[in-house]
Amino acid sequence: MTLKVCKFGGTSLADASQMKKVKEIIESDENRRIIVPSAPGKRSDDDTKITDLLLMSRELIHDKGSFESLFDKVKMRFEDMIQALEMNFDLEDAFMDIRYNLLKGVSDDYIVSRGEYLNGKLLANYLGYDFIDPVQVIRFDEKGIYDDAATQKLLEEALKDVDRAVIPGFYGGTEEGDVRIFSRGGSDITGAIVARACQADVYENWTDVSGLLMTDPRIVKGAKPIKSISYQELRELSSMGATVIHEDAVYPAQVAAIPINIRNTNRPADPGTFIESHNRSLDDSNITGIAGKKDYAILKVMKNGLSKDKALVDSLFQTASRHGINYEHMPSTVDSISLVLPKLNKVKTLNTLIDEIYTSVNPDEIKIVDNIALIGVVASNLSNKPKIISTLFGVLSTLGIGVKMIDLGSNDINIIIGVDNEDYEYAIKGIYNAYN
Ligand code: ASP
Repeated sequence: MTLKVCKFGGTSLADASQMKKVKEIIESDENRRIIVPSAPGKRSDDDTKITDLLLMSRELIHDKGSFESLFDKVKMRFEDMIQALEMNFDLEDAFMDIRYNLLKGVSDDYIVSRGEYLNGKLLANYLGYDFIDPVQVIRFDEKGIYDDAATQKLLEEALKDVDRAVIPGFYGGTEEGDVRIFSRGGSDITGAIVARACQADVYENWTDVSGLLMTDPRIVKGAKPIKSISYQELRELSSMGATVIHEDAVYPAQVAAIPINIRNTNRPADPGTFIESHNRSLDDSNITGIAGKKDYAILKVMKNGLSKDKALVDSLFQTASRHGINYEHMPSTVDSISLVLPKLNKVKTLNTLIDEIYTSVNPDEIKIVDNIALIGVVASNLSNKPKIISTLFGVLSTLGIGVKMIDLGSNDINIIIGVDNEDYEYAIKGIYNAYN
């Protein structure tokens, strides 16, 4: 029997009307048997997520009046939902426990996780599914480091006789039962871990967009959604700024070759994006997506034979590393090495860095090119697709956009070009149009 693990994000569960949509989605496919909910999110732009209210209440714990009113706000959101859904159910005992624990003094992780806990309880009752508390099955060590081996065992054991269950996202627990959380947005990670443990056929990640778009819709209005993207392509686009799912949620699905399907709770008929082992929708002339970031600088160090001189190259890197410089790319020629780094005004010690490079490497010249934007054009197997490369440089030449740097990543998936900051949006639009 097919098994789908479905994670629903905060906006998908923000109020009773969203909850109803979620129930309809789940009931429309009997394979949607394991559900991973987030805490209720924002109902409108100026609303506050339950997780943020809980964080604030922790800070206000010593100011009795403000604490009570915030805590009541959290409570009311759940009570309103229960009432609007006409459920024969309440969370009174759960709230009494939480309140007692809060006043007694508990860890921040416990407090922040209660949104997922309460929402999981509510949703399990609403759907008629079992409730599994992640403290029992998602294992962390004392320091809060996630323990994958222990978790897989616990989950396999817990799920083997369960037909339908709700497992809240975002948190787990130590062997002693203390709550620990993932980083913000971590319900995506729980969903992927659970999908892997029960060898799901697909991990559906339900959110408020119909998948990942080919490029930033603020730059290209109406940018097309991506139908299929490989795990690796997604990593490349994410590293260039495109986000749709928590970065750490990809790996557990990838190792088990479980496709992740990003879906829209508000438009359930949209197929969304499939993140999977191979991109199924690529031909030799089209790309998967375009992403980018502004505000880089290129530090060019020039010296006759520099790249061939191992000692000098080592010394250059050591100097950069002493200054905490995180270079993201390193194009080189026989007589030069360029470090592409975040904008130089963020590098506090620039002048000392340059002095030290002069002392350690004795270069002929150091040049700095500032205000650079990087644009990544992603498609698999790029070096065997000359048409893609020629389209890219063709359009840049037609638009008269100068290219300050080129780097074809070693995994053959991402070609990165550097352009002036001021050409960034114009270049993205032009590149997008050229492939569409
Ligand atoms: N509720 C948590 C957050 O707001 C976790 C999640 O939504 O995934 O970050």
